[in-house]
Amino acid sequence: MQFFTRKYRNMRVVVEPRSTVVIEGVPIIKGLNNKFPLGLAVEFKDGLYKTNDPAIIKALKAHVNYGVHFFAEDIKPGEQNEEGAQMEQDKREGVEGATSKCQFCGEKFANKGLLGIHIKTCPRKDET
Ligand SMILES: [Zn+2]
Repeated sequence: MQFFTRKYRNMRVVVEPRSTVVIEGVPIIKGLNNKFPLGLAVEFKDGLYKTNDPAIIKALKAHVNYGVHFFAEDIKPGEQNEEGAQMEQDKREGVEGATSKCQFCGEKFANKGLLGIHIKTCPRKDET
């Protein structure tokens, strides 16, 4: 299965954030949702990402940015969230609101300035 993105040549998609649990004093890395034991992030190169792993395909298609920032080669009519739909959403949410979501933890901020301050200290930043 091939996934593609139009907006970015290279893009990192966090499929499952990593989380660290400490067991008897030893930090253990695990996937936050227990779907991928070590968490998972995939890298689009030149706008493309290929995988044959059914678990990754399923997870990517369930991703919040699927149909928005990236698509699958077999996407069906109606599943495809074209740029137009995205622009409509941006208008509804206010462009600042739509672009001020922390890429690491998903927390939303009123503007990019606040987001920038948050990102420096985001607790999730070093886990991905
Ligand atoms: Zn954050």
